[in-house]
Amino acid sequence: METEDIYCDFVLNNKIEVKKLKETENVLAFYHTKPSYKTHIVVVHKIHIDNLVAVEDLEIIKEIFAVIKEVVRELDLKDFRIVNNNGKYQDSKHLHFHLISE
Ligand SMILES: [Zn+2]
Repeated sequence: METEDIYCDFVLNNKIEVKKLKETENVLAFYHTKPSYKTHIVVVHKIHIDNLVAVEDLEIIKEIFAVIKEVVRELDLKDFRIVNNNGKYQDSKHLHFHLISE
């Protein structure tokens, strides 16, 4: 997939189908299409923001983490990590968090 932003170009406009876990007005949590872990969930802000540094309104981060917490509770995850990549580590140039386990 030739894109710098898979979320705006394919996920949020439903060009590819993803398995959604939770969706609010501004946040979508779904199963990674090519998981690298047993549990690999992507939590993305629906409005385009390049990365964490570009976030001006911290309410956005609160909303994202509220969704992450709900997903953690629903899946009853005990051991997990939340990863946010930036710069050379960030493949898709749209703010997103990985919720990963094992
Ligand atoms: Zn985007």
